[in-house]
Amino acid sequence: MLPDPRHAPVYIGSEIYRGSTYGSTHPLAIPRVSTCTDLIRALRWLQGERFVAAPMASVAQIARFHTPEYIAALQRAEATQHADEQMRARHAIGVAGNPIYKEVFRRPATSAGGVMLACRMTAQGGIVHVPGGGTHHARADRAAGFCYLNDPVLGLLTWLDAGLDNLFYLDIDAHHGDGVQDAFADDPRVFTLSIHEAGRWPHTGLAEEEAACNLPVPEGFNDSEMRHLMQTVVLPLIRARRPQAIMLQCGADALQEDPLSRLSLSNNAHWEVVHAIRALAPALVVTGGGGYNPWSVGRCWAGVWAVLNDLPIPDRLDAAAEAVLRGLRFNREAGRNPPEHWFTTLRDAPREAPVREEIERLAAQSARMWAVSGRGTREDAA
Ligand SMILES: [Zn+2]
Repeated sequence: MLPDPRHAPVYIGSEIYRGSTYGSTHPLAIPRVSTCTDLIRALRWLQGERFVAAPMASVAQIARFHTPEYIAALQRAEATQHADEQMRARHAIGVAGNPIYKEVFRRPATSAGGVMLACRMTAQGGIVHVPGGGTHHARADRAAGFCYLNDPVLGLLTWLDAGLDNLFYLDIDAHHGDGVQDAFADDPRVFTLSIHEAGRWPHTGLAEEEAACNLPVPEGFNDSEMRHLMQTVVLPLIRARRPQAIMLQCGADALQEDPLSRLSLSNNAHWEVVHAIRALAPALVVTGGGGYNPWSVGRCWAGVWAVLNDLPIPDRLDAAAEAVLRGLRFNREAGRNPPEHWFTTLRDAPREAPVREEIERLAAQSARMWAVSGRGTREDAA
């Protein structure tokens, strides 16, 4: 019997992420979902009945978006642990940041199964957190940007197949949510909005694009600027569209300490977004996404679960939670001498700063383009 996410939020995880790595030199060498799960368990924030193990999506389920040839190639890559010419040239498997690793089919299939289950469970409403999901770059027939299967697309299709016809996809990963935008560019039932670093890979998601709302932000993007975009563009847009369901891709790579972007958010910004959109639709699914500093990711996503459940975040972690964070290893510069607060707290120091003129311009231009009032109101500032 699955728990009812309308009564209390449900957490979908899996042990497949524990010890799984893209290879020792890859940005996804690090543990992320297992850290988040261990943290919220150590904090006694997860009652047994609210945890659901993600099922692996079946080939037929994955084929709702991906091509049979690509799915077969991914399975073959896992079985042989070798990339042949077709895999590399046609499906981008084994090249360009998409390595062949031990669970290269089963792990993405589990993320897809988790997000699809989250959407099935919330078809009548409720909240599900599935931090293993959020692989927003994958294409129907090829891998892209560390993503093999596009679990957000598969989840949104699950909602559509359940009869929902007004969905909102919000993506706050540091990278443009290109795979999701392109999958639904011609489908008026799914509105996609991405906030991401300007000028960074995949170099799409310009503010002028008409297929979707895109808010490309400059280096140093801070908490105050995120709040400004939320109040002037994102929240008015969601309120105007009154979606039946919202999917939030809550990548953690826009955090200041992330090695792959140059944005400067604190995790307070992510939690404020989650809090602000929580009540704006009957159904909410929050996925993970990017995030390449193991402490930042674990602390951010554990806090997301706290916000979804109205749990107070302690100023200092107890010994059990601290032990989870002290147990992490990171073979980059930042891992050599991590600051003490990465072990002892969940909450970052806020990164408030004046809203720069270019952010105000971007907000005004987008509010005009998408015909929203562009006025922030006090209750948005949750
Ligand atoms: Zn990213």
